[in-house]
Amino acid sequence: MLRDPESFSAFLATLRRFVRERLVPNEAEVAEADEVPAELVAEMAAHGLFGYSIPEAYGGAGMTTEELVLAAMELSQCSVAFRARVGTNTGIGSEALVADGTDEQKRRYLPKLASGEVTGAFALTEPEAGSDAVALKTSARREGDHYVLNGTKCFITNAPIANLFTVMARTDPNDPSARGVTAFLVERGMPGLSTGPAYRKMGQAGSPVSEVHFRDCIVPAANVIGGREGQGFKTAMKVLNKQRIHLAALCIGPAIRMLDDAMAFVANRRQFGQALASFQLVQAMIADSQTEIHAARALVLDTARKRDEGIDVTLEASICKYFASEMCGRVADRCVQMLGGYGYIADMGMERFYRDVRLFRLYEGTSQIHQLNIAKRTLARAGWSDLGA
Ligand SMILES: Cc1cc2nc3c(=O)[nH]c(=O)nc-3n(C[C@H](O)[C@H](O)[C@H](O)COP(=O)(O)OP(=O)(O)OC[C@H]3O[C@@H](n4cnc5c(N)ncnc54)[C@H](O)[C@@H]3O)c2cc1C
Repeated sequence: MLRDPESFSAFLATLRRFVRERLVPNEAEVAEADEVPAELVAEMAAHGLFGYSIPEAYGGAGMTTEELVLAAMELSQCSVAFRARVGTNTGIGSEALVADGTDEQKRRYLPKLASGEVTGAFALTEPEAGSDAVALKTSARREGDHYVLNGTKCFITNAPIANLFTVMARTDPNDPSARGVTAFLVERGMPGLSTGPAYRKMGQAGSPVSEVHFRDCIVPAANVIGGREGQGFKTAMKVLNKQRIHLAALCIGPAIRMLDDAMAFVANRRQFGQALASFQLVQAMIADSQTEIHAARALVLDTARKRDEGIDVTLEASICKYFASEMCGRVADRCVQMLGGYGYIADMGMERFYRDVRLFRLYEGTSQIHQLNIAKRTLARAGWSDLGA
């Protein structure tokens, strides 16, 4: 749903200009320094990039799902590091609060997340609990007016620079199921919280990711999201359901950009006396990429609109994430191919996208987990939910 189509399209035009004029020219420098410079972070904050999905009452733009995915498709037409810098605040690092936080929690934290003063992170994954997130072991023991957290989270985006962590921990040691899990808001500076060094990664230089450690970490009972134990996994699933549509949109921007760059290359480079773009086998790679980008865009917009209408899109969100992330990987591969040897050379930028987008198929549910989810829900819709072991 677009609340005001005219002003939203003006907003998208401004965002497009900002991406082209301020972010794209700084891509190589960010990759080299492995950091988004503070002055660009300040510019992104001034453009309101940190607050897209946070309600207006708390200083954000209060975007609908359709508006959020349209903005995401524009913002992601540059190096992934930029949108990853703001992405935890507009996604997994704020959404638990938006969905299930108490009024007091929202008032306390959301304005700072919306302005970018605070960077959020979402800490679910553990060394022994990846795809099987319900197996998480981080414990939270109540002692009077606070909880004591112990455990380790791994692969947490923005953890090295985050000030606020949404943490899933087990409050009921006797319940190994999802019902034993509670969501906490843990501030950097609360005693017993520390973060590890940033991992060295395949791609997404400039987007720091690390472990988070809890050693007798003291968290006030007032920081249980929603104020109730045992609701954490439900909250996490709400976060991920919306985020899967958002992430699918964030896979479309890089695909558009890679195809644009590859077309500019094949239109200019000549072999056998003619432009590469005039060869039909090269055109096939353009056609397949453009077709898949269009399909992903239509799928994501349709799902976003349904979510805005209040329709349950759990199945569709999984389809979006699975299709768009795999699509982006295929487009990246074709675009490297179109550049020939130059596709393999770092200065050209295409190999950076190729490495950066590989992560999309791994996090927020691997492709295999989404395949399982899609099949399970499709069978259930057809009345085949009880197939036995
Ligand atoms: C850079 C980066 C950033 C991340 N950011 C965050 C973050 O901010 N917050 C957070 O909580 N997590 C984050 N993650 C974690 C991410 O969500 C997990 O890595 C992902 O869920 C997969 O878990 P795993 O790595 O333990 O793989 P595993 O679960 O061990 O899976 C390994 C392989 O086995 C397959 N597999 C597993 N189970 C099955 C099955 N039942 N059937 C078929 N195949 C299966 C998988 O598909 C995969 O191919 C991030 C990860 C990375 C790498």
